Amino acid sequence: MGLGRSAAVVIGSFPIGESDLVVSFYSREHGKIRGVAKAARRARSRFGGALELFTLGELVFFDTGRSDLLRIDHFDIVRPFGGLREDLEALGQAAWIVECVTRLTADHDRHVALYALLVRSLRALETADRPVHVAVCFGVRCLEVLGHRPRLDVCGGCGRAYPFARPALGAGGVLCERCAREAGDATPISPGGVAALERLRATSWEEALASPLGRLEGELAALLEAHMSGLIGQPTRTGRFVREVRRLSPAPGGRP
Ligand SMILES: [Zn+2]
Repeated sequence: MGLGRSAAVVIGSFPIGESDLVVSFYSREHGKIRGVAKAARRARSRFGGALELFTLGELVFFDTGRSDLLRIDHFDIVRPFGGLREDLEALGQAAWIVECVTRLTADHDRHVALYALLVRSLRALETADRPVHVAVCFGVRCLEVLGHRPRLDVCGGCGRAYPFARPALGAGGVLCERCAREAGDATPISPGGVAALERLRATSWEEALASPLGRLEGELAALLEAHMSGLIGQPTRTGRFVREVRRLSPAPGGRP
């Protein structure tokens, strides 16, 4: 109860009442929180354009203790990440990242490493030639920080040491062909894909961003989407959006 403050990223919002806005944030100090921004939809709102999706700012709120919704007093922009809302591919990947954070965390569950990863990923997306590459790097690390690190050294079913032929990726890690068949919901992964996953999580963030994935990029993006969907319990909403964008705009520069 009382006044709180934290650096936070806007991860969603919806209108309520005549001119108010309910805004969700992923904050450094309090994890996922939601609050009401009074009169935020008025033309001359004191929030201005600060409550746009992906905006990073300094949030000041009041917790009455009587409701799940906080009262949002101030949100001062630190970095608007406006470029992410102008490029469809970057928008899709940023939305996927935000959806993973939103749906894999509980309210008020503080997770500073995940917050840092979110901000770092949005920052990288702003200048990325290949937004999907950033999403792959995020996905690999997101599983790590949330404690869902897939095992890649042995089959998760029978304990047989990797490498083996025709590996698949299940909820807990790699599976051999037989265990994958028994599990039923594992996704085939190429040996190159296993090696790339291993490499991406062992190197620094900067190195991971800089190391080209070539044709493995699409494979890893699809695997991570399948993995996240498994953890969430249903396909991500933005995963579909991303696939549609790609289908409709085979962009120059070789974005698949
Ligand atoms: Zn096995």
